[in-house]
Amino acid sequence: MILVTGGAGYIGSHAVLELLLAGEEVLVLDNLCHSSRIAIDRVEQLAGRPLQFVKGDVRNRSLLAALFASYPIRAVMHFAGLKAVGESVREPLRYYETNVSGSIALCQAMAEAGVFRLVFSSSATVYGESPMMPITEDRPTGVPTNPYGQSKLMAESVLKGLAESDPRWSIGLLRYFNPIGAHESGLIGEDPNGVPNNLLPYMLQVAVGRRRQLNVYGADYPTPDGTGIRDYIHVVDLVKGHLKALERLEAVRGVSVWNLGTGKGHSVREMITAFEEVTGRPLPHVIKPRRAGDIAQCWSDPGKAWQELGWRAERDLISMLADAWRWQSNNPRGYAEPTPEKKTPTALAS
Ligand code: NAD
Ligand code: UDP
Repeated sequence: MILVTGGAGYIGSHAVLELLLAGEEVLVLDNLCHSSRIAIDRVEQLAGRPLQFVKGDVRNRSLLAALFASYPIRAVMHFAGLKAVGESVREPLRYYETNVSGSIALCQAMAEAGVFRLVFSSSATVYGESPMMPITEDRPTGVPTNPYGQSKLMAESVLKGLAESDPRWSIGLLRYFNPIGAHESGLIGEDPNGVPNNLLPYMLQVAVGRRRQLNVYGADYPTPDGTGIRDYIHVVDLVKGHLKALERLEAVRGVSVWNLGTGKGHSVREMITAFEEVTGRPLPHVIKPRRAGDIAQCWSDPGKAWQELGWRAERDLISMLADAWRWQSNNPRGYAEPTPEKKTPTALAS
């Protein structure tokens, strides 16, 4: 059985589905602070079989001990965490507590239970502002400009120190570039709380009429069209990389670092054009000043994951956007129930 922390969230729910489809038994631990139980129901529906779900906090040591004592867990995928950069600046302690202390509590419980295989959600943010593209894993980590990025770098150091202290550990640090898209069914996808920070969720909410226009943060970057460039990767490709990493960790000990990206960068303007093509409608947008802390460009060299895991991203930008659009247009309010005034007359009558 695989323990998946944060398995009700955006990436976690897609990973749980992929694990179930691969025949694994799955236990999800999630406190639902940024997700919905409905995501779990839909994953079960798509997989055609059930999973174990426990609502609880990854920092709760007695709960963790009870879970490891009750279930035959052989490895852990650790997605539980907080990820909003701006919020992390306002509430740094909450970020360090969840992302760093939560990871420590989990590793302590794992060690006590004799479980030493861990896949950890890290981020390309740990590279900071890199002078050269694409980014390989041996590039020195940078200085993240916010507590979210710092917390990911700190958790990585904790895990590296742990693996050095005890040769039984096999830990994969997966550095994600920019996960977007959704499962092709349109049943599960990204459902951010409040105003989205990330580009695609914002574009989607504009397209379904929840927001007036997209703010393009900066058109004066030293990039071909002046807007920021990122390496967007389909969430289903991303989670397939997790299953490959899990498999590889059966054979290797210590810490392994893998970039999960496509190796291709797209600018904000290119994203808008491709999005308009997919939705068939114009996306209202306006140029604004640069967003504090943003870098001009960032894309991966995913060659190490290809060589060592036999994994590479397969889905192109249009399919990422088409899948995201299917999810958002089928679920304009995400996992929230329709508000009474939006219910159909039949639904209101029933
Ligand atoms: P998400 O917010 O959708 O999922 C995180 C899940 O963790 C949520 O279901 C939330 O309820 C749960 N959670 C949070 N705190 C918890 C706690 N204390 N105990 C138990 N559960 C808790 O985010 P996501 O996009 O799915 O990200 C998953 C992981 O990947 C995070 O660690 C994030 O930092 C990392 N990551 C995400 C991105 C991205 O762009 N989405 C990029 C790089 C890294
Ligand atoms: N971006 C934007 N408007 C938004 C959100 C993001 O123009 O509302 C830009 C941002 O400046 C960056 C790119 O889109 O160039 C990706 O931003 P995102 O926050 O999704 O990812 P990150 O910056 O964390 O890589």
